[in-house]
Amino acid sequence: MKDSIRKPFVAGNWKMNGSNELVESFVSNLALNPDVDIVICPPAVYLSKLSSASFEVGAQNASEFASGAHTGELSLGMIAESGCKYVILGHSERRENHAESNELVARKVKATIEMGLIPILCIGEPLNVRESGGVFDFVKAQLDAVAKECGAQYIKNSVIAYEPIWAIGTGKTASPEQAQEVHAFIRKELTALDASAAASVRLLYGGSVNAGNAKDLFAKIDIDGGLIGGASLKIEDFTTICLAAS
Ligand code: PEP
Repeated sequence: MKDSIRKPFVAGNWKMNGSNELVESFVSNLALNPDVDIVICPPAVYLSKLSSASFEVGAQNASEFASGAHTGELSLGMIAESGCKYVILGHSERRENHAESNELVARKVKATIEMGLIPILCIGEPLNVRESGGVFDFVKAQLDAVAKECGAQYIKNSVIAYEPIWAIGTGKTASPEQAQEVHAFIRKELTALDASAAASVRLLYGGSVNAGNAKDLFAKIDIDGGLIGGASLKIEDFTTICLAAS
């Protein structure tokens, strides 16, 4: 039986996609589902426009700094002012393409919680790590860095997304069993720090979730919803995925 203290959660990561037209279509047409927390994370320029919608809005990244000479960056204060409740942190595209280390991601998680926002902390292994059997060690190191910086209290203030890098944007989804195995490991690791927070933290799966495979993934006991990339740009598919979570 799934644990009913964890309300299902589905977040759409639009990455660097979208337009005024897509924003308007989501604001007008995205069906809400009272049984699921639904969050859209658009490019930052659309945050304010989407914040008038009745679903929640999140940013895709944030600076660890409050202000200053950081051209191109957004502070957490700005993100809060644009109506966000959530911030995706440590997405593999940030870790890989912008050299974000476990320690930097951990500092961002701390700053986000201090700002009163909720991190959607992304973790997950590349293909070579999966093939060499190192998944648990890899994911544990990512979690340990956050616990070292923030203490166990981050667990009750965060959502955590397991996103195997080999499954992101590739069409190669982890099987429900592969995903569940890592989710169970993550929950066990968190339980060692704070059992009650670990029982209630939402663990999302991300990596080529679509309207066809969402239901089987979300049926697994430790998978509380999804972080959705490509399929979050199609309102019908995203709606089907949200329904699958409920
Ligand atoms: C993501 O970017 O977080 C993601 C899971 O992408 P996709 O669903 O396209 O694999």
